[in-house]
Amino acid sequence: MGKLNAVLLIFTGGTISMAEDPATGALRPIDFQRLQEYMPEIRSTGVRVDCYPFDPFIDSSDVHPPFWCKLAQTIYDNYDNYDGFVVLHGTDTMSFSASALSFMLDNLSKPVIFTGSQLPVGMMRSDAKENLLTAIEIAAAEYNGKPRVPEVCVFFEDTLFRGNRTTKKNTEHFSAFASYNYPPLAKAGVHIKFFPSSIHYPEDDKPLKLHTMVDQNVAILKLFPGITEHTVNSILNIPNLRAVVLETFGSGNAPRRIWFYKALKSATERGIIIVNKTQCSSGAVEMGRYETSLNLLNAGVISGYDITTEAIVTKLMYLLGEYGDNVDKVKELLNTNICGEMTIE
Ligand code: ASP
Repeated sequence: MGKLNAVLLIFTGGTISMAEDPATGALRPIDFQRLQEYMPEIRSTGVRVDCYPFDPFIDSSDVHPPFWCKLAQTIYDNYDNYDGFVVLHGTDTMSFSASALSFMLDNLSKPVIFTGSQLPVGMMRSDAKENLLTAIEIAAAEYNGKPRVPEVCVFFEDTLFRGNRTTKKNTEHFSAFASYNYPPLAKAGVHIKFFPSSIHYPEDDKPLKLHTMVDQNVAILKLFPGITEHTVNSILNIPNLRAVVLETFGSGNAPRRIWFYKALKSATERGIIIVNKTQCSSGAVEMGRYETSLNLLNAGVISGYDITTEAIVTKLMYLLGEYGDNVDKVKELLNTNICGEMTIE
């Protein structure tokens, strides 16, 4: 495996950059200087690693769309100077950020590898070093003079995932992420084994295009047996609401009650986009398979296929930001696999 020379390491925060506060015992961000002291190995990777610390470091629970814009802009501004990028990020919302960046960085042809850790960098058994050093190696890896993985990815424990397919699945295990509907892009053991048939390689050399228009007027409506008409209507009538992710049962099913159908129908007639996303971790929505999802079709609800909640929320924010009031265009792109985020068969 050949190595490219330059990787930009973007530190944004998360557990990987935290240490215990001696006074309270609570985890809080440390500064970049101390982080480097914990990880001197960065200098011996055989790759030129430059660091770009965000100021301040944040816990990823504080991530919001302006943070994604800043992150995407940082990659865009430094794109020509590096062969790959590693983003150190808290695990809690890493899948949202990786999904958002996959839409914001159009025509990406270099690796953007998100990683973090479950234990703070300063702790004895921390997973930080392995995650970070392998992420750097992957970001620098090339094959036939081209980047090995020109995608936005998440690397954690021993697996490289397509970022917009991931979900945080565990609060404690070192194997914290899963990609239920798409196979891994690589596995790290004694060697790093890449799986080229799962990796997307751009066909032509288009320049990177940055999209930073984001519309946050998106909501999630998760169904459960006993959900009331009042709850459903409250969500569908949020002022300025543009789109709703409807988290349904099984292969995309919902109650057949008439009030529910009417509430959805009236929302779609007001121009609100409703996407059907299954509550199951694996598998896809199949609209019309059961009578209970046929109603949704008739109410104007759109299939989310096998997309994750993280990917559909960020895809909606991106599409609504980018295409504004052109609801037909947004709907067309919701039925399009833009950057590997879903499978349409
Ligand atoms: N709360 C932390 C964060 O997401 C958790 C982590 O990094 O694992 O920033």
